[in-house]
Amino acid sequence: MLEEFDGAARLLNLEPGIWKILTHPKRQIAVSCPVQMDNGEIEVFTGYRVQNSMTLGPCKGGIRYHPGVTLDEVTALAAWMTWKCAVAHVPFGGGKGGIICDPTRMSRREVEALTRRYVAEIIDAIGPEKDVPAPDVNTNEQIMAWVMDTYSMHVGHTSTAVVTGKPLELGGSLGRREATGRGVMIVARESAKHLGFSIKGSTVAVQGFGNVGSVSARLLAEAGARILGVTDWKGGVYNAKGLDIPKLADYVTQHKTAAGFPGGEPLTNPQLYALDVDILIPAALENQITADNVAAVRAKVVVEGANGPTTPAAHRHLHERGTLVIPDILANSSGVTASYFEWVQDRYGYFWTEPEVNQRLEAKMCEAFEDVLKTAIHYKVDMRTAAYIVAINRVATATRLRGMYA
Ligand code: NAD
Repeated sequence: MLEEFDGAARLLNLEPGIWKILTHPKRQIAVSCPVQMDNGEIEVFTGYRVQNSMTLGPCKGGIRYHPGVTLDEVTALAAWMTWKCAVAHVPFGGGKGGIICDPTRMSRREVEALTRRYVAEIIDAIGPEKDVPAPDVNTNEQIMAWVMDTYSMHVGHTSTAVVTGKPLELGGSLGRREATGRGVMIVARESAKHLGFSIKGSTVAVQGFGNVGSVSARLLAEAGARILGVTDWKGGVYNAKGLDIPKLADYVTQHKTAAGFPGGEPLTNPQLYALDVDILIPAALENQITADNVAAVRAKVVVEGANGPTTPAAHRHLHERGTLVIPDILANSSGVTASYFEWVQDRYGYFWTEPEVNQRLEAKMCEAFEDVLKTAIHYKVDMRTAAYIVAINRVATATRLRGMYA
């Protein structure tokens, strides 16, 4: 991330002072959260909330529950959220939180108690105007409901806008669950337009058939693309005529994997990267397209649905070869845009219909794509560098305008 930042900042001729400000987190909070476990013993969990930037608005970013959480990781992810929010052009800075814990070994009551204590410990730092958390690894709508309730109890009134990713019944937004996959579809379609082919009749391969992969596959199929291959943790499936995505989705719901789907032939992850398709969408894990397998990639466009699926070396290779890579901070930024919409609706107290949410998402994603593409053309750089240029320029301009308070 810092490498990307440095490259883009140099191209922008960023002055040293602003450079320093933008590479330091605004605030790092570490808290101890004692919880009485079901066996009566007391455990103390360490939690973090890092607020990278508040220059454009409140911090925005998920809370993850994982044994491997570290302050360094949370700090890096908070910075990354600043750039993602800025590319998406929503009035937020970046934030991220985490608790070192293994929720898969905890009861629901223990997870609730930990969540409430963590929120109580960071209560002065969060709020609709300050910092708005969201779900991340191992956290979900129920946990966000507990965050919202704990905060509301402390401030003395119901405050839905303190957190996003809530259940619909508590001020969640229609369209949010599908938003990231929908954004991936939109940027894939816009990329095709830019390269002079139509999404209708184009061919696509998707790695990962979870929230992001399955929605983008379905929406691309609905737009007329043929999804030739899908893989996940266990294997995958290939059909030269195009997979029946609704049927595959039903199969995955039942079997928890696309492997063994009767509507095609078996497909491995390495085979998926090498498929002769127009668009490849890695939507599973990080570091999937590497120096070792990049030579096999034949797609004209790689749309990074997942975070960090292409290593820097593989990315250089793809760019030099003329493959268009739509970077994660642009490609999956519609998740944060949908969070912004949820926050707006909560503050407004007036909720949009699903078509209204989708229409606004479409407009925001097309705007973001256009801004990054124009920047890539102007600076003669790849789309990832261009996305960082757009993001850094927005935050740097706001920082200069606000001036120094000392
Ligand atoms: P998910 O858990 O719903 O789905 C993940 C998919 O990846 C599953 O189909 C799983 O089988 C597959 N997978 C796991 N291990 C694999 C392996 N070794 N090889 C191939 N496939 C494997 O997750 P998701 O919400 O769809 O997120 C996918 C990626 O997108 C992650 O990188 C996530 O950080 C990123 N992302 C998600 C959102 C969102 O709104 N869900 C937003 C931004 C970024």
